[in-house]
Amino acid sequence: MLSLEAARQRIINSIEPLPPVSVPLDQAADRFLAERLVSSVDLPGFDNSAMDGYAVRAADVSNASAENPVALRLIGRAAAGDVFAGELTRGICVRVFTGSMLPAGADAVIMQEDTRVDGAAAHTVLMLDAAKPWENVRFKGEDIKTGTPLLEPGSRLTPGRLQLLAATGHDSVKVGAIPQVALISTGNELVEPGQSLAPGKIYESNRAALAALVRHAGGLPRTLPIVTDDPADTEAVLRSALASHDVVISSGGVSVGELDFVKDAFERLGGKLEFWKVAIKPGRPFVFGRLGRKLFFGLPGNPASAMVTFALLVRPALLRLQGAADWSLPVLRAELAESLANGGDRRHFMRVRRDTDGLIRSAGGQGSHQLSSLAGAEGLVDVPPKTTLPAGSQVSMFLWSPV
Ligand code: AMP
Ligand code: MG
Repeated sequence: MLSLEAARQRIINSIEPLPPVSVPLDQAADRFLAERLVSSVDLPGFDNSAMDGYAVRAADVSNASAENPVALRLIGRAAAGDVFAGELTRGICVRVFTGSMLPAGADAVIMQEDTRVDGAAAHTVLMLDAAKPWENVRFKGEDIKTGTPLLEPGSRLTPGRLQLLAATGHDSVKVGAIPQVALISTGNELVEPGQSLAPGKIYESNRAALAALVRHAGGLPRTLPIVTDDPADTEAVLRSALASHDVVISSGGVSVGELDFVKDAFERLGGKLEFWKVAIKPGRPFVFGRLGRKLFFGLPGNPASAMVTFALLVRPALLRLQGAADWSLPVLRAELAESLANGGDRRHFMRVRRDTDGLIRSAGGQGSHQLSSLAGAEGLVDVPPKTTLPAGSQVSMFLWSPV
């Protein structure tokens, strides 16, 4: 049976990112850059004032204080966006604002709070504090210089990175395309939520969870109707789903039970099964296959198994399709509040949460059918086979949703 890491590597190795698309910045949030961007400007673009106040020559005010105000003649005003036409010579100041281009000849800014306008002499400003050369001045290029690499391909476009791109004049960027993902659930026992339940039936719940996880991973989910445990039905739905999506994710019907048609249906369509077992709990039956460039993931039907296998094996694939450079789950290190025991012979990805002290504890029953612990879980701790992680030990919690 494949290890988790081997399975993930085989999935990643078999994926080519989707062809990139060019999008305006306001549609680029959380997408992955498909190009290397270099700054064509300096940031700041020019020396400018960090304060509302008066541009001065530092030498003129080197001895200024509240007790010893220095009077400077006000010769004009430069608002943010203006270019001051004149030049500061000795004994002169210019009214400036945060972001105003520093007037020629000035080498410091006295903030407004350290000045007083002399009522008697309208064109005189009293400086009540000294300034060192270049005090309250933001320099051209001190943040970013022309030619500086801004972002590498595969970077996620966070709000801060989008701000950087806008500030350096980019109006659009090349990003990975959004994977179109079909969600299929199989099982004669499944009923659409909202309908009435006959005896022996259950509400279908995997598609709702998977749709949310697909969105978190940057994909666009499309929920298809429930499929019965029937070979022809399964094959027909798989065929049309694969024709119109980049990725098809099914749940249920992949174990060795006699009603498990999914693997066979995929192969009848010409799909190539790459593997169908991974040594993890929950989630041992897990199918990965390809049909041309289309990807197929057959997840186990139990709710916890479907979510865990998605987080560990499908999410990386969706990120890779978008050209992401990193597809590891976010990790949080913290101490265990209680022991976590795995008596089995497969790694157990146990559902956990943080308590009010920030310690990690079990989120509840770990059976793969148990939903209450899924609802309470923030993430998973990887407990090795035949191992008890003692209370007090430091562990990594893999977060399965953004925090
Ligand atoms: P299977 O993988 O089809 O053998 O299903 C394993 C278990 O998960 C069974 O108890 C199913 O009833 C349940 N199950 C399968 N698919 C779903 C689903 N989409 N929603 C809720 N439970 C499911
Ligand atoms: Mg089933």
